Amino acid sequence: MRRGFLFFVLVPVFFVACRKSSIMPRSADVLGTVCSVNAFADGSAALYDALFARLRQIDGICSATDAHSELSAVNRAAGERAVSVSGDLFFVVQAALRVSQLTDGAFDCTVGPVVSLWGIGTDHAHVPSDHEREAARSLVDWRDCVLSERDSSVFLTRKGMALDLGGIAKGYAADELAGILRAHNVRRAVIDLGGTIYLFGAKADGTPWRVAVRNPDCPQGEPALMLAAGECAVVTSGGYERYFEQDGRWYPHIFDPRTGVPAQTDVRSVTVVHHSALLADAFSTAFFVLGCEKARLLAESLGIGAVFIAENHVVSTTGDLAQNVVLF
Ligand code: AMP
Ligand code: MG
Repeated sequence: MRRGFLFFVLVPVFFVACRKSSIMPRSADVLGTVCSVNAFADGSAALYDALFARLRQIDGICSATDAHSELSAVNRAAGERAVSVSGDLFFVVQAALRVSQLTDGAFDCTVGPVVSLWGIGTDHAHVPSDHEREAARSLVDWRDCVLSERDSSVFLTRKGMALDLGGIAKGYAADELAGILRAHNVRRAVIDLGGTIYLFGAKADGTPWRVAVRNPDCPQGEPALMLAAGECAVVTSGGYERYFEQDGRWYPHIFDPRTGVPAQTDVRSVTVVHHSALLADAFSTAFFVLGCEKARLLAESLGIGAVFIAENHVVSTTGDLAQNVVLF
């Protein structure tokens, strides 16, 4: 599937036939982004209260910037002791380490020191010196994050190590919200956690959900493509989401853990389609780091659906996902 236009990825934007809903959909700033849920006719104040309370709870556990989060407690204890954590944090870190193993470290939730050093998305974003970068990079290694099921603890074995769950926590949160929707017998809903989309249930008219994937070159412009799907998570990682520019160079917020430098591959954006939003989130970040060729091979071997928009404006998909994609 080839297209010669300057189509780049983006954040999925959903187009849904909005039916009369009993209450307006709700949005709020949580998890460092705008989170919204639309449960259409099944939406109620009590439902939205439950959903957003859960989101805030997960944020309070997984946030790398909130000094009171459980994650910050683990980071503060790096090199000193294991910290017993909630089932939420244990589950997310365990899943993150599994994805690290499967991606040979392209996804690495111990990337915290590198994320902090570069400060991309903050007012102190800068290109660090080689010495600083090497010092931060040497602290990144998922194999030095040790879990113990016995006391539900997490231990970062070296001082200065730090977890960062920015590449996976929104996916976990989306799965958790889907669980709440299921428990409330909601028939259909769209969860959008800053571009981590969960399409829940089936549309009332029986047609597939449709998600627009942004053009990475022009995220606010016409989408690059439209993806049709049943109930699933759709998660895009793209360099245009958060980045900074210096001296004519462009630095995205996703790092190659092996170099400590923002990933510079031929992937402009990658969209993963999966029944687990957590896995879709983690793998989309990893695929951005791996580059199209390696990522596609890995996705095929794991049976993960992915749509790549490459540097050279080529759109490619895994498996039979091509039949669900309409290019603009
Ligand atoms: P996403 O937007 O889901 O691709 O995640 C990007 C976020 O994940 C960044 O803002 C960092 O917080 C974190 N991150 C960056 N690089 C990596 C990496 N290689 N592995 C895991 N997390 C990462
Ligand atoms: Mg991710």
